[in-house]
Amino acid sequence: MADSLMTTYQRLPVAFERGEGAWLWDTEGNRYLDSVTGVAVCGLGHAHPEIAKALCDQASSLLHTSNLYRIPLQEQLGERLRLCSLAAMEKAFFANSGAEANEAAIKIARLYGNKREIKNPAIIVMEQSFHGRTLATLSATGSRKVQAGFDPLVQGFIRVPYDNIEAIEEIAQHQKNVVAVLVEPVQGEGGVNVPASDYLNRIREICDQHQWLMMLDEIQTGIGRSGKLFAHQHNSILPDVMTLAKGLGNGMPIGACLAQGKAAEVLAPGNHGSTFGGNPLACRVAMTVLDIVESQQLADRAAKLGERFQSEFIAKLADLPGVTSIRSKGLMIGIELDRPCGELVGKALEQKLLINVTAGNVIRLLPPMIISDDECKLIIDKVSALVADFL
Ligand code: PLP
Repeated sequence: MADSLMTTYQRLPVAFERGEGAWLWDTEGNRYLDSVTGVAVCGLGHAHPEIAKALCDQASSLLHTSNLYRIPLQEQLGERLRLCSLAAMEKAFFANSGAEANEAAIKIARLYGNKREIKNPAIIVMEQSFHGRTLATLSATGSRKVQAGFDPLVQGFIRVPYDNIEAIEEIAQHQKNVVAVLVEPVQGEGGVNVPASDYLNRIREICDQHQWLMMLDEIQTGIGRSGKLFAHQHNSILPDVMTLAKGLGNGMPIGACLAQGKAAEVLAPGNHGSTFGGNPLACRVAMTVLDIVESQQLADRAAKLGERFQSEFIAKLADLPGVTSIRSKGLMIGIELDRPCGELVGKALEQKLLINVTAGNVIRLLPPMIISDDECKLIIDKVSALVADFL
């Protein structure tokens, strides 16, 4: 039956049919501890009863009407995101995925440049970044592997090394057509790369100096995972544009491009749109997700658990030859080895543990924010044993 699908993915030989909290059950009835959460999506774990209820209630009243009409739940979600903690984003555009949210951000940057009569507007993007698989977002992405075969790429991106302010300043001196910087607060797919603590503050300053838009891709870091509701809140700054997806729907497909200040006024009727984006079902679920994350202070829990993972992995693994770095921001945890380690995913699966390897040699853990202390210990013990055995 798998023959019926395009060979887009290299899938592991397992299929899950049920989940609860941090656990998944496969079709044979085996139970797995999930420290991938559908790649940073199910921050509230699987089959969360309040989310299941919101979904069922909404599905039995109204799924979809289209953006030809007002959608009160979309307006409420926009308002909700506007009021979230320090976010203070003024306007929202809702899409169905991370890539689509970033497409909206890229279009905003280009229109913003256009309005300022800047010819061939360019956006500064980072090496090792990941922004999605549509043509514009893969062109923004800093990976030749993702881009290979898809030339000609979308023009208008200037690439600089991540966590390197001097490289951005250098561009600012010579290049007059820059309109925005698009950056992940922590690079997820690129290898859980955590920049210097003032990196985002410095980018904010440069953007202010040159009237560039600061656009943060919080698709992986957002909705509590980094230890704050949004990762830029660690820096007490406000971006002009922020994109969200993944954790916002906990499995319900939704993306959002939020903007404030001058960026919030750029899109006019006819500039952008989506048939499904922000439909009542997705918005209802996203509001329930935000209610749970905020009322249960799950971002604080992610911060606390992240510190525990970091310190215990350092204690158990840092001295092993072959472990080159252990880094984390909340519940984005990376253990970098000096060699490719993709085979660890299969070895972990045999032990009924889901882990991920990214950038070839970085073990990436993205456990749910609702995980218990005992479940954390299980992940730490199993991953440490796997790494020790592998090296
Ligand atoms: N941006 C970041 C930082 C991501 O991690 C991802 C997905 O991994 C995307 C964008 C693309 O999101 P999607 O797969 O929903 O299009």
